[in-house]
Amino acid sequence: MSALTVTGAVRDGEAVGVRCEGGAIAAIGPEVAPAAGDEVLDAAGATLLSALVNGHTHAAMTLFRGWGGDLPLMRWLEERVWPVEAKLDDEDVYWGARLACLEMIRTGTARFWDMYWHPDATARAVEDAGLRATIGGPLFDAQGPVRETQAQTLADLEALAAHGEAIEASIAPHSIYTVSEPLLRWAGETAAERDLAIHIHLSETEKEVEDCLAAHGVRPASYLDRLGLLGERTVLAHGVRLDRGELELIAERGATVVANPVANLKLAVGGMLPYPAARRAGVAVGLGTDGAGSNDSLDLLADLKVFALMQRHTSGDPTVLPSTEALQIASGARAPLLSGGHEPLRPGASADFLLLRRDAYETGLGELASDLVYAASGSIVDTTVVAGRVLMRGGEVEGEAEIVARARERACRLGISERVRRLSQ
Ligand SMILES: [Zn+2]
Repeated sequence: MSALTVTGAVRDGEAVGVRCEGGAIAAIGPEVAPAAGDEVLDAAGATLLSALVNGHTHAAMTLFRGWGGDLPLMRWLEERVWPVEAKLDDEDVYWGARLACLEMIRTGTARFWDMYWHPDATARAVEDAGLRATIGGPLFDAQGPVRETQAQTLADLEALAAHGEAIEASIAPHSIYTVSEPLLRWAGETAAERDLAIHIHLSETEKEVEDCLAAHGVRPASYLDRLGLLGERTVLAHGVRLDRGELELIAERGATVVANPVANLKLAVGGMLPYPAARRAGVAVGLGTDGAGSNDSLDLLADLKVFALMQRHTSGDPTVLPSTEALQIASGARAPLLSGGHEPLRPGASADFLLLRRDAYETGLGELASDLVYAASGSIVDTTVVAGRVLMRGGEVEGEAEIVARARERACRLGISERVRRLSQ
C-alpha cells in the first residue's frame, strides 16, 4: 500500500501535515512533507479532527429505519423486527451494513462496535467499505438448544477470525434478561479463553434492574461480575440505571460503558447514563447510536449534542461536561478499548481522521469544540480517512448510488419498503 500524505491541514490554529504509512500515522506536525511516491491530499486549510468511534450499534438495522418507529417497544419488536429478522440472509445483512458504513463514513465514524445476525456478512461489508469494526453475533437463549447456540457462536467466531486486521471478533450475549446464567458463564469463559471482548446490553430499563434484583438479589453490574463477565475487555451498552456502587465496580474492573442517548430517548426508557457519576467513579465512557431501527440515525456528532444537553439538563449544571471532553467521548479517547488503545492523531496511532468542510458556517467564529458539539452535525465532514485510505473526499463516497439502491432492493425483498409505501398512501 502506498503512503498518503495530507498537507495544509489546520490543527489548533497551526498548519500541519500528516503522513500515513501501513494504516498508521507515521508523522504529524508542521514540518511533515510528502516523500517521493506518496499519494498527496492538499487539505487547503481544512480543519483536522480525530475520526469518531461508534461504541454500540446493529449496523444492518438500517434496513429497518423508519419502519414502525411510532409503535411501543414490544409491538415494534414483535410485529415488525422479529418476523423480518427471521427471514434475513447474508446479502440482506451485507447491504444493510454497507448502507450503515456509508452513513458512518459520511458522518465521520471510522470504527464501530456491532452486534447483529450474520456477523460474517457485516465483516465483509466493513472490509469492503474500508472501515474498522469489532463484531459479534448476538447470543440469545431463544435461538434453540444450548449446544446449537454455542456451536453457532463458535462458528461465527471462526468466520470473523478469518478476516483481516480491520475486523475484531467479540462475543456478544444480548443481555442478562435474554441469556440464561449458564450461557452467560459460558460466554465469559469463551471470551477469557480466546482473549475476546464481550459486548452486552446492560441496565437499559428499570424493569431489567427490578427483575435482576428479584431473581438474583443483586443489581445488573454485580450479577455480571459474579458470572465473570465484567473485565477490561467488556463493553456495556446503555448503563441507564447504573447506581454509584455499580459504577465503582465497573471502574474497578476496568470495563467500558457506552451511552446511547438518542435510542434511550426514542424508546422512552426514562433516562440515560449518568455521566457525572460515571466520571467521578472513573469509568471509561464511550458513545453509541444503537441501531438505526431505534435511533434512527448513525450520525454520532448529532447524538453527541443530545448527550451533552441531557447531561446538563439532568444535573442542572451547564459546566458538567466541557465540549472538549464531550468530543473525546465521541472519538473513543475516554475509553481505550473502544478506540484500539492509541491516543488519536499521534505517530503510531491508526491513520483515522477527518477534514471538515472549509465552507462550514457552523464553525469558525467561536471555540471549535463548542461549535462541533452544539452547532455541527455529521454533515460538516468533507473528507474521511481510515487506515490511511481516503474513503470520502469532497462529500463523495465511491459506489454510493449502488449501495443505496441495493439496500433498498433488500428492504423490498423483506417486505419493508413495500409496506412503507402502502402505509404512506
Ligand atoms: Zn443495542
